[in-house]
Amino acid sequence: MRYVVANEDVCIGCRLCEIACVVEHSKTKDIVKAYKFEEKRELPRSHVEEVGPVSLSITCRHCDDPRCVAACITGAMRKGEDGRVTVDIEKCVGCWSCVMACPYGSVGMDKEDRKSVKCDLCGDREIPACVEACPNRALIVVEEEVG
Ligand code: SF4
Ligand code: SF4
Repeated sequence: MRYVVANEDVCIGCRLCEIACVVEHSKTKDIVKAYKFEEKRELPRSHVEEVGPVSLSITCRHCDDPRCVAACITGAMRKGEDGRVTVDIEKCVGCWSCVMACPYGSVGMDKEDRKSVKCDLCGDREIPACVEACPNRALIVVEEEVG
């Protein structure tokens, strides 16, 4: 199982992880175009929560037994053989069952398109964009053997 964990001790709440995620999931993967010129700005697949001086990125754990997958009414949310939990946008009907089922608050809502959005570990990227972008190593990739 592979997922990203946050270390709140060194997260400064700069949100560069969110920006990197938006760019990575954009059509052009160009920061200026992604934010200013693309028809629709992508939503970040993780988000930074801040309470006073404490901040950390909330992102998907790609759970072994994902509640979001069990809750999905259309089969849009699935766990692949590579362990990633991803959403098939074509099948998603925006019922938000997965959003309510995730105990970590890791599924976002694209209310404009009525589709759920979540971390996909940046597909084939060896290092997810958020991890690469963090200037403080507050995000790290964890690999765990399952079983
Ligand atoms: S979205 Fe939530 S329930 Fe689903 S795999 Fe990620 S952390 Fe687990
Ligand atoms: S919002 Fe989409 S992915 Fe989530 S449970 Fe509903 S159909 Fe499945």
